[in-house]
Amino acid sequence: MQNKYDVVIIGSGLGGLVCGYILSKNGYKVAIFEQGKQAGGCLQTFTRKGVKFETGVHYIGSMGEGQTLNLFFKYLSLFKDLTLSPLDPTGFDVISFKNEEYKFATGYDNFIETLSQKFPAERNNIRQYAKIIREIVLSSPFHSITNQEESFQFSSHYGITKISDFLAQTTSNETLQNVLAGLVPLYAGVKDKTPMYVHAFINDSNISGACRIVGGSDKIAESLINSIRSFGGEIFLSSKVCKIICNSSQATTIILENGTQVEADYFISNTHPEVTIDMIDSNLIRSAYRNRICGMEQTAAYFTVYLKFKENKVPYMNNNYYHYLGNEVWNCEKYTQEDWPRGYLYMHLCPAHPTQYAQAGEIITVMNFEEVAQWAVTKVEQRGDAYKVFKQRKAERLLAQLEAQFSGTLANVEAYYTSTPLTYLNYTGTIRGAAYGVLRDVHTPRIVHRTKIPNLFFAGQNTNSHGIMGVIIGAVITCSELLGRKFLWKQITTTR
Ligand SMILES: Cc1cc2nc3c(=O)[nH]c(=O)nc-3n(C[C@H](O)[C@H](O)[C@H](O)COP(=O)(O)OP(=O)(O)OC[C@H]3O[C@@H](n4cnc5c(N)ncnc54)[C@H](O)[C@@H]3O)c2cc1C
Repeated sequence: MQNKYDVVIIGSGLGGLVCGYILSKNGYKVAIFEQGKQAGGCLQTFTRKGVKFETGVHYIGSMGEGQTLNLFFKYLSLFKDLTLSPLDPTGFDVISFKNEEYKFATGYDNFIETLSQKFPAERNNIRQYAKIIREIVLSSPFHSITNQEESFQFSSHYGITKISDFLAQTTSNETLQNVLAGLVPLYAGVKDKTPMYVHAFINDSNISGACRIVGGSDKIAESLINSIRSFGGEIFLSSKVCKIICNSSQATTIILENGTQVEADYFISNTHPEVTIDMIDSNLIRSAYRNRICGMEQTAAYFTVYLKFKENKVPYMNNNYYHYLGNEVWNCEKYTQEDWPRGYLYMHLCPAHPTQYAQAGEIITVMNFEEVAQWAVTKVEQRGDAYKVFKQRKAERLLAQLEAQFSGTLANVEAYYTSTPLTYLNYTGTIRGAAYGVLRDVHTPRIVHRTKIPNLFFAGQNTNSHGIMGVIIGAVITCSELLGRKFLWKQITTTR
């Protein structure tokens, strides 16, 4: 390790790795410091009894030739290390309520046609919905891959219109409103707060072509790390950053948990902004800014049951299944002890080798941090018996819901494992275990990549948007500060 770099990046989540890739590719001497033993943040996987489980990214969209994420993946040289497996084009996502299932099909024409068969009187409204979400995406220069001579900003209308208002304007049919919002667990949306663009970017990306990553999303992290090293960048694991030291005008040094000091010209923090701000004791961070960042609402947190299936028993399900126990998709976080879970997302993991049977599945549902707060002071694997009993009780309840919907599945589960909001707090450092970090709220200004310290920037899901697409675009915006917007965009687009 050197004692001075051009750029120090704190955290090796997707945002940190993409910044590391872009800047080291362009000649900057970069060092990434990651607190965990494994790089990748939400791209981490874990293996039990020979089966790999994903902790974050399960599927990605707009991967077709000429589509947005495809372009970024090419630029990041990811295709040399990744194999993608398209989800069922006739229904990559299934939205399910008590007595009815609705499919999201790939491609706008198929999407409109499939839903219109369920809602014949709503065909025009569904068409209009598709037109508007496409418009939102096209108005964002990055998502649409249009000319960057224009500004980075897209219509503020999309940022201040609530998803609930957008859907209500689309149709008065409440069932259809709920179906269209069926992927709400992908952004932990809050009906009267989430801006419509969050919904639009995610639905558009998936409708454009949803895929799983064969063998697990950790392959994205692995590939980026190999590239960064090949460009001369360095990555240090088990290296928690505790402090960012500033002089009177800018950041100068980070201090690791073990006391090591490292200087740099620029700093990029991929940690949750609240965690970053807590590392800084400088007059450059005024209390109004500190209070704003530290007072922001977080997205919901999740409880997951990871299933290892018996061999050759459970047919591989090539779609994601969003099931809701009531009539609406919203407010799953407002559960009571009696009615938890109000909904869940069930999916199978794409095995490394093609097979007609699934080796592993996951069930994800909302869990409020308060439920596990009493164990927050304990350490991983040392949280005590009460925590184990709590997790088992929750898992059994969720498994019973799965069995009610997919009869016979439980008999084919060989083993299961669980994670709670505390797991995410520990492994990604996100506040209160929040799945997607800070909540996007039409009433609150967004966190931007620039901080109040001129040579310190944010990258990651808390600026721009979350998810693979949002984080990559955010990292590009952050790196534009050093490389120049036009230069970087030209470099990205000429990779085509
Ligand atoms: C359950 C779940 C399912 C998801 N499914 C999908 C999906 O299917 N498709 C999709 O596109 N997106 C999905 N996402 C979202 C996506 O995974 C995230 O938005 C994205 O990966 C976040 O990347 P990030 O760069 O913000 O960093 P994070 O993944 O949050 O990583 C931050 C990193 O910083 C490190 N760190 C924190 N503090 C310190 C410190 N003090 N010193 C050093 N290092 C530190 C952490 O250890 C971590 O490695 C999912 C997320 C979750 C939680």
